[in-house]
Amino acid sequence: MAIEVKQINEDIYTIEDGIVRAFVINGENKTALIDAGITGGKEFKDAVLSISKNPVVTLITHADFDHIAGVPEFGVPYIHPSEMAHYGMEIAKVDNKNFPIEVNSMWDGEFVDIGGYKLESVLLPGHTPGSVGFIDREHKIMFIGDTVSMSIVFMNGFQRNYFALEATLKKLQKMAEAGKFNILYSAHGEAAVKISQIGVELEGIEKLIKGELKEQPIPPYLQMKNGKLYTYKTAMFLTE
Ligand SMILES: [Zn+2]
Repeated sequence: MAIEVKQINEDIYTIEDGIVRAFVINGENKTALIDAGITGGKEFKDAVLSISKNPVVTLITHADFDHIAGVPEFGVPYIHPSEMAHYGMEIAKVDNKNFPIEVNSMWDGEFVDIGGYKLESVLLPGHTPGSVGFIDREHKIMFIGDTVSMSIVFMNGFQRNYFALEATLKKLQKMAEAGKFNILYSAHGEAAVKISQIGVELEGIEKLIKGELKEQPIPPYLQMKNGKLYTYKTAMFLTE
């Protein structure tokens, strides 16, 4: 599937990479790449370079294979230490010997200043143990990775945890209510997600924990044989 670049505003672009999306933010000194797609290689690199204005720094919301394929094109990525075990496992699955052996650790509350945008890591465990969002507090933008989405949240796989996701969604709801962010950008489904989706997903995961959701048939377009699909309003979860 061909990679497509879309512009959101003067500084921010999405890289639509098949099932997944990465973001490019042009700061005054650096260009931030948030996640690195599923295609990788020259095609991904060219897409980023076609819009980046400055040297690229890579920030990873989490290490699922569909978010890291382009990492080797842009050097050592920033990852939360709680995600590093998962990163190692996923790299082993990707046929690319050029992955950087090192990673930059980026703890909760630390930020990368690209000039005009400060991208601060917010720990959001649940989808994976070291999933993070990147918040720019001045512009009130949150890049949320897979944690909140109008598409399926995959809760099957390495150390996914319903209770952690529930706690994370409560934290996000409080941050949203306190006006910490009013724009939410997701890696799957629609890029801009309504803030109200946080509450819908929270109710959904609580019902899933209590066993109150009915399993739904998996639509053929998803081409998935494994897992169980549960839906609640606009929230969708795939479980073991
Ligand atoms: Zn993903």
